[in-house]
Amino acid sequence: ASAFESISMAPTDPLFGLMAAFRADPSDKKVDLGIGAYRDDNAKPWILPVVKKAEEIIRSDPSNNHEYLPIAGLASLTSAAAKLVFGGDSPAIQEKRVASFQTISGTGALHLGALFLAKFYPRGSNPPVYLSNPTWANHHQIFQNVGLPIAQYPYFAKETCGLDWNGLTSTLQSAEPGSIILLHACAHNPTGVDPTQAQWKEIAEIMKARKLFPFFDTAYQGFASGDLAKDAWAIQYFVEQGFELCVAESFAKNFGIYGQRAGCFHYVAAPGAGAEELTKRVGSQLAILNRSEISNPPIYGAKIASTVLNDPQLFKEWEQDLRTMSGRIIAMRKALYEKLVELKTPGTWDHITSQIGMFSFTGLSEPQVLKIREEFHIYMTKNGRISMAGLNSKNVDYVASAIDKVVR
Ligand code: PLP
Repeated sequence: ASAFESISMAPTDPLFGLMAAFRADPSDKKVDLGIGAYRDDNAKPWILPVVKKAEEIIRSDPSNNHEYLPIAGLASLTSAAAKLVFGGDSPAIQEKRVASFQTISGTGALHLGALFLAKFYPRGSNPPVYLSNPTWANHHQIFQNVGLPIAQYPYFAKETCGLDWNGLTSTLQSAEPGSIILLHACAHNPTGVDPTQAQWKEIAEIMKARKLFPFFDTAYQGFASGDLAKDAWAIQYFVEQGFELCVAESFAKNFGIYGQRAGCFHYVAAPGAGAEELTKRVGSQLAILNRSEISNPPIYGAKIASTVLNDPQLFKEWEQDLRTMSGRIIAMRKALYEKLVELKTPGTWDHITSQIGMFSFTGLSEPQVLKIREEFHIYMTKNGRISMAGLNSKNVDYVASAIDKVVR
């Protein structure tokens, strides 16, 4: 008999199941609003023009090869990545209290951080990792896999399709000191709802008072608003406030290099005597973890991102590409909103334009989601989340009128 005789069938990943159902649907009207990747106005993947340029530069470099990277990854990438998240003149970088490691995209950065916390974070009273409710589903698995206890903080208010501010703050206020709080830096997935800067300040204040540990997940910098600094504001504010913290950074969305798996994990020590030396010790342990998990990170996506981040002219072109992507998404939000208003669709739809980033929580119920899939071949996750990237000038009216029909 197999050693695994008693193993049970795991459920299929809901998102990948949704993609398979979409592919199998023969209808020519079908619309994929499940995807977590940018699409152009023809519903096609988009290679950023600046990425094409970077690839040409890499390929024509006579010293280009496919050797192993160091354990910490491509140094020119990790240093530029730190500047991107923390700001070019960040005192944390100047004071050498940032340890940066290249990882397998954002997922790998979260995993490396989770593993590091599971191994080294003081577990005295076993404080949990708080995830937003809801959150990107993989967060649960990533932290559970390393044995950390999970708790949730309320995030989304169904009535307003906005932030559950009271739920969020009261939970943080009663969280056990030492709890780890996972925060989406911008473009919260799946809701599209972000705190305002004033609200971030209050969150920081509560977390400082309650001695809570911030772990930022930043998967959409520049992709959300089109402005890199604006999308990193919350992280930079927390660093400025003197927190010790972790950041998981992904280049999947903002460079459109999803499958290249380029990302970084950053540890930041609080300012003060001994911070640089502490950062070195933390870095030495992170190196052992990265070595045992992946040995060394993938090279190609790292070279692409590094080439762009380290060349002022390419960097400018990248910012333009980011504005192209975020601009199209913001335009689709507006178009969907205006069509729903024009159709006098029951309910309020302001949240479609006030939410930000790739995703929007529409407020559609599960039966409505199933109905829109069956009758209109429009695919979205059961929680009513739609990917704005799946909308384009050709299908937005069709989607709006289908939403109109299922909510009546
Ligand atoms: N974090 C969030 C909130 C995400 O939405 C994603 C991707 O969808 C990731 C992290 C990680 O993505 P990747 O591993 O492709 O960088």
